[in-house]
Amino acid sequence: MRLTIDSYDFFLVNHKKNRNFAKYSSIHKNTTIMVDYKKIGLVNTREMFAKAVSGGYAIPAFNFNNMEQMQAIIQAAVETKSPVILQVSKGARDYANQTLLRYMAEGAVEYAKELGCAKPQIVLHLDHGDSFETCKSCIDMGFSSVMIDGSSLPYDENVAVTRKVVEYAHQFDVTVEGELGVLAGVEDEVSAAESHYTKPEEVIDFVTKTGVDSLAISIGTSHGAYKFTPAQCTVDPATGRLVPPPLAFDVLEAIEKKLPGFPIVLHGSSSVPQDEVDTINANGGALKAAVGIPEEQLRKAAKSAVCKINIDSDSRLAMTAAIRKHLAEHPDHFDPRQYLKPARESMKKMYIHKIVNVLGSNDKL
Ligand SMILES: [Zn+2]
Repeated sequence: MRLTIDSYDFFLVNHKKNRNFAKYSSIHKNTTIMVDYKKIGLVNTREMFAKAVSGGYAIPAFNFNNMEQMQAIIQAAVETKSPVILQVSKGARDYANQTLLRYMAEGAVEYAKELGCAKPQIVLHLDHGDSFETCKSCIDMGFSSVMIDGSSLPYDENVAVTRKVVEYAHQFDVTVEGELGVLAGVEDEVSAAESHYTKPEEVIDFVTKTGVDSLAISIGTSHGAYKFTPAQCTVDPATGRLVPPPLAFDVLEAIEKKLPGFPIVLHGSSSVPQDEVDTINANGGALKAAVGIPEEQLRKAAKSAVCKINIDSDSRLAMTAAIRKHLAEHPDHFDPRQYLKPARESMKKMYIHKIVNVLGSNDKL
């Protein structure tokens, strides 16, 4: 049965019920987790999202797969006094090992303190959890937040699996991100040929039935470095560069009207900086027509109920550009530290730029 709920009061009442359910469950829980994220200094997203929504900024969610990326993210967050979400995708877990990544996040908390941040706000988040089992295994081993991505399932199945993850996660005060609508593009194992915008008429029903803490929506962002085909773009006559179609801010506004103050998430929000693409191509690369989301549009979104913006490809581009440039200029170098050091510096610069100039999450600790 599909309820057609269109009242925010009704949604609020139910949301409170969900919170109470979580409290009740914690008294009667019969499962134990192996690692309590609070004991290793991580935080969930609840408080930081509430502050970001009311403060008109967004929290950066940066994917990490290796030590240099993690160091760059933490250095940037500490220097700018920003909360940060460390995201782990399926590709990252396959590449680096889930256990190792969890210990790296634990190390990140201590590293941030060593760098002078007394109380770091670091979330360890599962990006695109594909099943209840995947989410449970991350919750059990110390993740403070998970995404369950049921967006490719029929609506009722998406509701059911998301609800199941929420019921489990809330026992341990782990926050959950759900998704409605489909993003186009390719990112690790997540891919879809076409995007389908989130239907505003579904959001209250979904949030009420599942009890999710935040909602990822589709308004025209896209995964990967090739977000749009040239046919979808126009050409800037001054530069000859491709200009992507604008985000569907009307859909975002309609969703905000249905769920005032509810935390909204944007995936696939790299901007694909053209200077990085040029550096890669000038040093032996062959990236053709790589196009991202213009930063002005993300800045506008960050001022709305969008409180988490996912950025992955821009870090990959910054790292690859720096490594290609370094090796082209120093063909005799073979110590990975020689080229990973400038790569780490370049990623850090990019993260600081996003935090300060796009998301506005600096000085929010
Ligand atoms: Zn994503």
